[in-house]
Amino acid sequence: MRIVAGVATDVGRVREGNEDAFIVEPPLYAVADGMGGARAGEVASQLALHTIAELWRRGSGTLEDEVREANDIVFARAGEDQRYAGMGTTLTAAVASAEAIHLAHVGDSRAYLVRAGLLRQLTRDHTLVDRMVQAGEITRDEADVHPHRNVLIRALGTEPRVDVDVDDIGLLEGDRVLLCSDGLTTMVTEDQILAVLNATVGKPQDAADRLVRAANRAGGIDNITALVLDVEEGEPDSGAIAAASPVAAPPNGGGRRRAWRWIAAAVAVILVTTVAYTAFRSYVDDQWYVGVSNGHVAIFQGIPAAPFGFELSHVDLDTGLAAAEVEQLATFPGLADGINATSREEALQIVEAMRQDVETSKSKHGGGAM
Ligand code: MN
Repeated sequence: MRIVAGVATDVGRVREGNEDAFIVEPPLYAVADGMGGARAGEVASQLALHTIAELWRRGSGTLEDEVREANDIVFARAGEDQRYAGMGTTLTAAVASAEAIHLAHVGDSRAYLVRAGLLRQLTRDHTLVDRMVQAGEITRDEADVHPHRNVLIRALGTEPRVDVDVDDIGLLEGDRVLLCSDGLTTMVTEDQILAVLNATVGKPQDAADRLVRAANRAGGIDNITALVLDVEEGEPDSGAIAAASPVAAPPNGGGRRRAWRWIAAAVAVILVTTVAYTAFRSYVDDQWYVGVSNGHVAIFQGIPAAPFGFELSHVDLDTGLAAAEVEQLATFPGLADGINATSREEALQIVEAMRQDVETSKSKHGGGAM
C-alpha cells in the first residue's frame, strides 16, 4: 500500500492574508493555522512548520519532540519581537506509513479518518467550547454556534511549554485521512465534508480542491486548508502529490488525407459540439447564484457570465432585499460578482443569512451597542 496526497489552501472570501500553512513532505504531513495581530499569525504557522520539517529532515527525534521544539522557537520569537507578541498557531501533524498514521496535535485544526464511507474525528479541539461540552455545560450543537467557539485553550508558541496530543491509528487500504483548518470545519458540516470525500474517492487533489470550494461557497470567512491522504494499493514509493489529471492530448493523425477522413472529422466535430452544447446548457441550468438585479438581492439560475453578450443566467426570484444594505456588511463581499450556490435552496439560505445580518447590523447601530 502507499499514500497519495492532495492539498489545497485558500485565503477565503473575507480575510486579507492566508495565515494557514501546510507541509507535504512524505511521510510528514501537517496543517497549521496561525494567529496573532497583523502578519504574526502567518509568521507563527510558517515558523512552526519550517522548524518541524527541518528537524524531521535531520531525523533528530520523535514528532512530539519536534513539536515541542517548534513551540520553544515560536515562543522565543514572539518574545524577541514586539510585532509578534502573543502569536501562536495550531498544529495537526501526521507521519504516515502505509500501515499506520502517527498524529501530533495542538489546537483546533482537525484530523479525520474516512473508513468504509464513515467519517470519524481523530483529534479533539483544544477550545473553550469543547471543554464546556466535555463538562456537560453546553451541547455539541450549542458549541457549533457559540460566540466564543474560536477561543483556543491550547496553542503552539503561546506558552513556554505545550502539551501535545499524540495518537497512532492503523490504516487499511481505501482509508482516507483529512487534515484541515477550522476555516473548513466552521463553514461546512461534517455531513457535507463526508459527501465531498465520498464523491472523490481515489482523487485526493480533487477532494482537497472541492472541500476548499465548498467552504468558500458557504461564505469563506476564514482561511481554508484541506490535506487529503489516500491509502492506496501499490508500491510504497510515493506519497507525492497526485498530479491533477492532465487533459489528454488529441491523438495525432497519420499522413493519409482521404476525403472520407475529412467528412468523418467534420461529422465528429458537429456531434461533439452538439453534445458539448447540450451538456453545457444542462450544466448552466443546474447552477444558481445570489446577485444583484435592479438594486435588489436576487436569485439567479445559470452562471454570472455573459460571453459575447450572451447571457447565461436569468432572475429566478427578486427577494426585495436592498443590495446596498448587504454590500455595507463585511460578510458578503462577493455579492456584486455573484455568490455561487449548489441549489436554489442553498441560494435561499444565503439570502436568509443576508437578511439576518442586515437585521443584526441595524439593531446594533440603532441601539448604539457597537
Ligand atoms: Mn482558522
